[in-house]
Amino acid sequence: MTTIKATCPTCGEVALTPDDIELRVDQDRTEGSFYGFECPRCTAQVRKPADERVVRLLVSGGVPALPVEDEPVRVKLSERFDHPRITHDDLLDFHQVLQDESWFERLLIDAA
Ligand SMILES: [Zn+2]
Repeated sequence: MTTIKATCPTCGEVALTPDDIELRVDQDRTEGSFYGFECPRCTAQVRKPADERVVRLLVSGGVPALPVEDEPVRVKLSERFDHPRITHDDLLDFHQVLQDESWFERLLIDAA
């Protein structure tokens, strides 16, 4: 099997097989392509950009070129909930509710 040499930031040059490498190719933006592998020595997850030359080298070594997965859209925590913020008073109310053994039934009633 083909041996592919890659560089781990900690261990330096390591020998990999095509199966060890995940190559993601971005068809629209070459700078979006990357390859990743787990270092066989220190088990670190290494991820590096793959320019066209690197993509050609890896593909010719037998690494399948997979499409880049769409990263989930990140939503700021402050935009995630469309509700008023919890206040200290809410927290105190909640604390008082929890003093009562029937707190769970009361929550269910309030939510209904
Ligand atoms: Zn390493």
